[in-house]
Amino acid sequence: MRTLPCRVDPDMWFDWETRGSSTEGYARIAEAKALCRQCPVKAACLAEAERIEDGVADRTWGIWGGLTPEERISRRGRRRKAVA
Ligand code: SF4
Repeated sequence: MRTLPCRVDPDMWFDWETRGSSTEGYARIAEAKALCRQCPVKAACLAEAERIEDGVADRTWGIWGGLTPEERISRRGRRRKAVA
């Protein structure tokens, strides 16, 4: 069984949040997202993040399924509008 990318260097999926809007922070996000794109469980990962975060206020952490917290919040808003 293949090791999931985020299990090799888990900090990469979270530590950019402490780096603010810096070049280094954006580079870490891009690197994590690139690895998520190749992940065999990406769709399931995103679905699990959405299940966990559904009903939770507006703060979530880390990159899941290739999306940052802000991107997941935006996606959640679009999904809610679509069903309304
Ligand atoms: S899609 Fe999910 S499980 Fe896969 S590398 Fe990204 S965060 Fe990890």
